[in-house]
Amino acid sequence: RTRTRFAPSPTGFIHLGNIRSALYPWAFARATGGDFILRIEDTDLDRSTQASVDVIIEGMAWLGLDHDEGPFYQMQRMDRYKAVLADLIAAGHVYPCYMSMEALDALRERQMANKEKPRYDGTWRPTEGKTLPAIPEGVKPVLRFKNPIGGVVAWDDKVKGCIEISNDELDDLVIARPDGTPTYNFCVVVDDIDMAITHVIRGDDHVNNTPRQINIFKALGKEPPIYAHLPTVLNEQGEKMSKRNGAKAVTAYRDEGYLPDAMVNYLARLGWSHGDDEIFSRAQFLAWFNLDHLGRSAAQFDEAKLKWVNAQHLKAMGDAELAQHVQPFLAKLGVVADERLPSICGLFKDRCDTLVVLANWISAFYLDVVPNAEEKAQHVTDAVKPALAVLADKLVSCAWDKASIAAAIKEALVETGLKMPQLAMPVRVLVMGTAQTPSLDAVLFLSQREKIIARLKNA
Ligand code: GLU
Repeated sequence: RTRTRFAPSPTGFIHLGNIRSALYPWAFARATGGDFILRIEDTDLDRSTQASVDVIIEGMAWLGLDHDEGPFYQMQRMDRYKAVLADLIAAGHVYPCYMSMEALDALRERQMANKEKPRYDGTWRPTEGKTLPAIPEGVKPVLRFKNPIGGVVAWDDKVKGCIEISNDELDDLVIARPDGTPTYNFCVVVDDIDMAITHVIRGDDHVNNTPRQINIFKALGKEPPIYAHLPTVLNEQGEKMSKRNGAKAVTAYRDEGYLPDAMVNYLARLGWSHGDDEIFSRAQFLAWFNLDHLGRSAAQFDEAKLKWVNAQHLKAMGDAELAQHVQPFLAKLGVVADERLPSICGLFKDRCDTLVVLANWISAFYLDVVPNAEEKAQHVTDAVKPALAVLADKLVSCAWDKASIAAAIKEALVETGLKMPQLAMPVRVLVMGTAQTPSLDAVLFLSQREKIIARLKNA
């Protein structure tokens, strides 16, 4: 059974680049009938915040990235890590290292001066026949993992292909601090083992950790999972997307009126493809998704494209469903909608790229709109005002359906000798606030009769 996980660190608000690292493992679990696990890696106590955890949970819920297990919190699993650490010590894979910070810094500087890659030199690693330095007094050691000497660590990365790292390039990793707390790479391995993760799909900023983690898996007598390291997501300026250079929290897009399925569609395409398909439903995505078509190069965020994708999803959505999605945005505007709402959504959905834009249109049917001053001056002229009164009279008595309203408009045109736009533009401006609306009969039919008549007569 496939088991994947999303393991965010709750430091800063997760942005679109981060959440894409949740989307793919989620999709892979769903596509293969497996499990998706949420694990919060909160061991960085200085930088982890509850607010950041909340955005992770809310953002995933918004996008429908449901998890089968978790959230697990690493801070709540410390006892477990310590127990596994004890096993590793008992098996002889770990040794104490008393090298001071100053000595480590000096070592690093010497190596840099010699143009060598900085790495721990194994001073405290016990080997046969070697005499270790005298243990300094009052110093608490770190624990280091005995990385294998010689040989290679290799894995078949589902994105990057075969990767092979020589063990001689890896030094002995610190796996516990002087106070006994286990370090990041160790916790990840214990979690991935305990949670029986079969596929680790994560950002390629972790690719350097992978050979170290694989060696710890092996020392614990476990098979490492399959890895897929996703290329970075760049922002519109071509920099790595990050909170520091202005990336917004995922939940900001919810508030700006993007549909969850549109966002899933957009994020899916940000590093994965299915032929030339650009617009697809969640179900199609899950039917198509596999690890074979993940892109190898960095993907770039493009807000204009996101808007376009959202517009396509808005247009394709059923009116009743759209009415539900737009409700919270209407509530923010103080609109209490009625049974006209789905039809109004249907009339405007193909001219909106976000739910915020749609809600603004809808509000014209429920709130007292102020006509755009410029358009009013242009269209609601003295010459046309008598015709507005003629139309108003006809609308008082006609049946309230689209055909009858269209007939009333036609009669008014015949009686006044005006052309359609001469009459339609001012009516739209007065009723909707602007002249840029769908066809007049459709707009009037969904507006309230008394309101239309009052507005035409007042003009
Ligand atoms: N906590 C890591 C991060 O947020 C992810 C680690 C992993 O996926 O293995 O970057």
